[in-house]
Amino acid sequence: MNQKRIAIFGSTGSIGTQALDVIKANPDLFTAEILTAQSNDELLIKQALFFNPNIVVIGDEKKYQTVKTALSHTNVKVFAGEAAIAEVALIDCYDIMLAAIVGYAGLRPTLNAIELGKPIALANKETLVVAGDIVMRLAAEKRIPIIPVDSEHSAIFQCLVGEGRNKIEKIVLTASGGPFLGKKPNFLVNVKKDHALQHPNWSMGAKITIDSATLMNKGLEMIEAKWLFNLDAHQIQVVVHPQSIIHSLVMFNDGSIKAQMGLPDMKLPIQYALAFPQRIANDFPRYDFKKPSTLTFEEPDLKTFRNLALATDALYKGGNMPCILNAANEIAVFAFLRNRIGFLDMTEMVEQTMAKVSFIEQPTLQEYFDTDAEARDFAASLVHM
Ligand code: NDP
Ligand code: MG
Repeated sequence: MNQKRIAIFGSTGSIGTQALDVIKANPDLFTAEILTAQSNDELLIKQALFFNPNIVVIGDEKKYQTVKTALSHTNVKVFAGEAAIAEVALIDCYDIMLAAIVGYAGLRPTLNAIELGKPIALANKETLVVAGDIVMRLAAEKRIPIIPVDSEHSAIFQCLVGEGRNKIEKIVLTASGGPFLGKKPNFLVNVKKDHALQHPNWSMGAKITIDSATLMNKGLEMIEAKWLFNLDAHQIQVVVHPQSIIHSLVMFNDGSIKAQMGLPDMKLPIQYALAFPQRIANDFPRYDFKKPSTLTFEEPDLKTFRNLALATDALYKGGNMPCILNAANEIAVFAFLRNRIGFLDMTEMVEQTMAKVSFIEQPTLQEYFDTDAEARDFAASLVHM
């Protein structure tokens, strides 16, 4: 395999740092060409000194001078600001983008990378939730693959390798259930941020950890799956599987089911996406069939975890509804993480925003941008933010 040059957008995050671990462990396969962060200048500098990329970008312009000075004795080019993060995606110095920024902010850089004709290893699910039709259409036009990094979608992608045109009857996304599996609203109403940030199986960034606790994450993943695998809403099912060993399943039209399994470790889907179509040998711990264990499946509790029901509504409704849901949810999670609203208030905020912002059946990209702004403003007005 030729050495692949990787552009990591969001290199200081949970996915970004694990991707750099993968690159570090496989220096003959990968180099890091672009690294971007929002505000963590200290880590970005450390990464740049170690990996010697072509370009780094710090989103927060106030930190430009610090990064520039720290890297002044190197050849690393330093840029700053939101626009620069999107613009460097247009510089032809990499072979694949790892889209690992969190939230709506990941959309523009990813669109630019596709525009440039670069394959995408996609962790940033919000990109597809907000504007999946436009992203996938552009990728098809440019004939570039979008290879999922999200573990469930990586599982489905892996199950589909070799299946060519065989028809999918449905896919089943597995959900761990998060830290509050089995709890009821009378418990959830008192949940605080520190408790919600403790995920039983995965260690991830704050936003997705809260989304996992509310099950919004699984709702976003249903919408992500619709676009990635060109499915109808009714072909997508969620099942709670607390052990997180089966990462998702595909049922074909003969009733046969394929699953992808493994210990929960995001490095696996990250390295699969970066090296695809090859697999890379590693010495990560293995699942041990000799140890007694039980794999269980149950229906999600949609009455308690109403975010999943709202996301399912958005999935069926289509148009700009998933974009509205996503924007309201980003504001809600932001407010919850700052102790401005309670755990269940997040759902209220999303529901009210979905009812308020005008529905557009087939939005243009500009209409998605406008929808996002309008939904954010409305959601923020609910908590006077
Ligand atoms: P983190 O919060 O850990 O990291 C986010 C990264 O994006 C950081 O590098 C951060 O910079 C940067 N960033 C944050 N806000 C902005 C912004 N406004 N503009 C530009 N860059 C920004 O998130 P995760 O790594 O957990 O998640 C990244 C994406 O991957 C999310 O979409 C998530 O849903 C998805 N994902 C994550 C999984 C996981 O295990 N973590 C699993 C599956 C999907 P800084 O550090 O400076 O703030
Ligand atoms: Mg996932």
